[in-house]
Amino acid sequence: MCNTEQTCQPPVGTRLTVRLLQTTDVHGHLLPFDYFTNQPDRPWGLLRLATLIARAREQAGAAHCLLLDNGDFLQGTPLSDLTGQPGHGWTGPHPVIDAMNRLGYDAGALGNHEFNFGLDWLTETLSEARFPIVCANAITQRGAHATDDRPLMPPYSIIARELRDSNGKHHTLRVGILGLVPTQIMTWDNDRLAQRLYVRDMVDTARAWLPEIRAAGADIVVVMAHTGIDPGPDRPMMENAARAIARLPGVDALLAGHSHKCFPGPAHDGVEGADTTRGTLHGIPCVMAGFRGDHLGQLDLVLTRDIEGAWRVADHDAKLLSTASAPPCPALAAALEPAHAHTLTLTARKIGETTAPLHSYLAVLRNDPITQIVNDAQRRAMRHALSDGPHAHLPLLSASAPFKTGGRGGPTHFTDIPAGPLCLRNIVDLYGFPNTLCGLKVTGADLRDWLERAAIRFRQIVPGTQDQPLLDPSVPGHDFDVIDGLTYAIDLSQPPRYDLSGALINPDAHRIRDLRHNGQEVRQNSHFILATNSYRAHGGGPFAALADRCLIHTDTHPVRTLLAEHVTEIGQVEPAARATWRFEPIEDTSVIIETGPGLRAYPQDIAALGLTDLGLAPSGFINLRMWLSGRADPPNCLTHPCESPISGLSSH
Ligand code: MN
Ligand code: MG
Repeated sequence: MCNTEQTCQPPVGTRLTVRLLQTTDVHGHLLPFDYFTNQPDRPWGLLRLATLIARAREQAGAAHCLLLDNGDFLQGTPLSDLTGQPGHGWTGPHPVIDAMNRLGYDAGALGNHEFNFGLDWLTETLSEARFPIVCANAITQRGAHATDDRPLMPPYSIIARELRDSNGKHHTLRVGILGLVPTQIMTWDNDRLAQRLYVRDMVDTARAWLPEIRAAGADIVVVMAHTGIDPGPDRPMMENAARAIARLPGVDALLAGHSHKCFPGPAHDGVEGADTTRGTLHGIPCVMAGFRGDHLGQLDLVLTRDIEGAWRVADHDAKLLSTASAPPCPALAAALEPAHAHTLTLTARKIGETTAPLHSYLAVLRNDPITQIVNDAQRRAMRHALSDGPHAHLPLLSASAPFKTGGRGGPTHFTDIPAGPLCLRNIVDLYGFPNTLCGLKVTGADLRDWLERAAIRFRQIVPGTQDQPLLDPSVPGHDFDVIDGLTYAIDLSQPPRYDLSGALINPDAHRIRDLRHNGQEVRQNSHFILATNSYRAHGGGPFAALADRCLIHTDTHPVRTLLAEHVTEIGQVEPAARATWRFEPIEDTSVIIETGPGLRAYPQDIAALGLTDLGLAPSGFINLRMWLSGRADPPNCLTHPCESPISGLSSH
C-alpha cells in the first residue's frame, strides 16, 4: 500500500504504453455504402473501422487505447447531409454522433466542415456526444491572449487513465488533448459565421495553450489538429500547419487530417521534416488516417518515467491500418439500419428524368452538361430572387465548377448517371457540397479576373510539344469555375496568372481571350450580376472575396435544393451545354489528361473531342491525348485503346 504521493512515484525507467487510435475526415461515411450509386460493399466506412478498432483494443488492452476523431465527421454523405439535418423527417439521434457514442470515442476535434450547417445546429448536435469535443482556436469572444478567449468548445480536455506499467503496477496517466481547426472556416462559411465566430492562427493558439494544459496536470499532450502536412514555409494563418505545430515545445504526439492524405506513407515523401516511414514530423510522432474511413491511424506511444518524475515519450510505433479487408461490424450496422433505411427512402425520391447520361469524365475538357445544369439552376433562382428589384435590369451570369473530377478521390470519383429517372441521390451527386447561393454585382474586370483564377487548373503548355500533362494536380477540380452567359477562350501558352493561394505570380500573363457577352466584348467597367455559391463568393480557393464589396443577395437554401427545384420544374433534363469556353488552338501541340475508365462507356464523347485513349495507368485512371490544334489521331486508336501505360504520368 502507498499512503503518500511520494511512495506512489514510479521508479525512473518505468514503462507505460498507450495506444492512440485515430479516425479523421470520415465525412459521414458510416456504412460501406455509396449513396450516389447505391453500391454496397465499398472498401471504407466507420462500420469497417469499428472492426479494426475492436481488434486494436483487444490487442493492446482497451484501457490502454484512446479513440480520437480529428474532425470533418458531420458532413459528406446523404446520411449526414439529409438524414442528419433538420427538415428531412428523421427523428432519431444524429447518426454520426450516435455511431461515435456507440464506439466509445474518448475525444473529438472539430474540422472545417463541422461549420457547414451553422453554429446553432452544431452546438446542439454536439451536445449529444458522450465524449469531449475540443477546439481551441474557434472562439466567440477574443481575449487579450489566446488563453483569455471565450472558445466555442472547450479548447482542451484531459483524459485520465489507470494504466498498468511494465512492473504490473497501476498509475494514472493524464493525456491532454488540444483541438485546432483551419482559420479558413471564416472564408468558407462566412455567411454562417460572420459576427458570431472568430478564429486565431492554429500555431499561435497551440503555443499559448500547450503550457496551460501541462500546468493543468497533463502528463503528455496530444494535439488533434484538423490540418495537413504542407511542404512550404510557415505563413500566418496557414491552412496546413502540421509541420509548424509539430515544432512547438510541449507536443508529445500530433494527429493530423484535413488534406485527406495518409501519414506515414509515400504521399509525403520529400517533405522537409517528415519521416514517412517512422511516422514523425520534426521528430514528433504523427499519424493522418486518410478519409471517409479508409484507414485507422494507430499510434503506440511508449512512455518512460524520467529522472524529473515526468512521463516522456521514449519510443513509438505509427501505422495506418487499411479498412479495405476489414468486415463491417454487424452490431453497429444493426444500430444504424433505421437511419440508413431512412436515407435510402429520401435519396430514392424521383425528381425528374434525364434523356441522356450525365457524366463528369470530360468536365475540364469541354463545356460540361453537369456544370451547365447547376448554372441553369443558380440563374433561375437568382432571377426569381431579383425580379422587380433594383438589379433586375443587369445581365445575369452564373459561375459553377465541376465537383467530381477524380483527383485525390481516385478513378471512380466522377459523376456518372445513366439516362432515365433522376432521384434525389443523383442531385446530391451532381452537387455534393452544402453551399448556399450568393448574388454579386461585379464588373467586367472582376469577371476577367475570376476566369484567370479558374484557369490555373491548367499547366502552361509549350507550343509545338507533344503529350504534355494538361492539369496542375495541386489545383482541385472544384476550382475550375465556368461562367455561364459569357463566351471566352483559354490560352494555355500563357503561364497561370495566379497561384493556388490566389497570389498574383505572373502580372503580365493573361490566359483569358476574347471575353464576350451577347457577342459584344466585355468592358472592364460594365456591370453584371453573378450567381455563385457562398464558398466562392467569400474567396474560397484561389479566388478573391468579392462578397466583401459587392454582395447583393444571399439565399439560405443549399444550392442542391435549388437544383432539385429546377429539375422538378423542367421535369426532363436534356443534357447539353452552351458553347461558353474553348481552348485557344495551338498548332502541333498535344496534351495528356487522366480521367476515370468509366468514360469508355461513352465512345461517342471520346470521338467528339478527337481524343485518343492511351490506356490504363497503374493509378487506375485512363490517359487521354487531346490535340490543341483541333486535329485528332488516326481513328484506329479510338476503337482499340493502346493498353501500354505511358510512362511519366501518375495519379495525384
Ligand atoms: Mn475533410
Ligand atoms: Mg477539412
